[in-house]
Amino acid sequence: MSEPILSVRGLEAWYGRIQALFGLDFEVAAGGVTTLLGANGAGKTTTLRALSGMIQTSGDILLADTPIRGKATEDIVRLGVAHVPEGRGTFTAMTVEENLQLGAMTRRDTGGIAEDIDRIYDYFPRLAERRRQQAGTLSGGEQQMLAISRALMLRPRLMLLDEPSFGLAPLIVEELFAILRRLKDEQGLSMLVVEQNASMALDLADEAYLMETGKLIMSGPAQQIGSDENVRRAYLGY
Ligand code: ATP
Repeated sequence: MSEPILSVRGLEAWYGRIQALFGLDFEVAAGGVTTLLGANGAGKTTTLRALSGMIQTSGDILLADTPIRGKATEDIVRLGVAHVPEGRGTFTAMTVEENLQLGAMTRRDTGGIAEDIDRIYDYFPRLAERRRQQAGTLSGGEQQMLAISRALMLRPRLMLLDEPSFGLAPLIVEELFAILRRLKDEQGLSMLVVEQNASMALDLADEAYLMETGKLIMSGPAQQIGSDENVRRAYLGY
């Protein structure tokens, strides 16, 4: 495995006095994809929120060599961690292109921004066709693509994706994951993907971790996890 872009050791997290995460250890390789799988309420969303500094945590979180645990969310974003939350969170009254420009808010390189918008339209042709359309009028799949695109405008070192397949039709999910695969293969984008759609996520990922009640209960190469009989029965349905 190449050098990790993200190393997490002994991560714990709390909602007030209620502990939600218990001693998580995991990594994302630079240029690799790690997936966190688990049922509803296992703690997947909480893990991403902990990494982004949105809740109270303890333990170690390293972005390459930089400790980021305890930093403010905006500083973690500036250091290169882009978080695409479940439910997407695009600016619905703004156009596709305005959303992309907002994604580059922390950047000053106007030329680079224009280039990145062009590259994004190459990856997401549906967005290119709709560049002047209000985000709120896009389909669910297009809004998810826009949310991911806006995060890409940060030129992130690591992207956190919370259930990108949520609420989307199977064909759109396939289209979306094919684009994520291209971003990984062609741009070397490092991703941590939380999913309930285990088969799509395992297909994309290099490493997989299974979560249950705030703990990691199994980990390994995605292919190996995907062929485990218990995992197949519980998460893949065959
Ligand atoms: P889902 O797929 O349903 O989002 P998940 O694996 O992402 O599931 P989390 O949303 O991380 O699970 O929830 C983990 C645990 O933390 C659950 O027991 C949940 O009830 C609890 N929890 C989540 N958000 C809060 C909150 N704001 N306050 C208190 N407890 C919370």
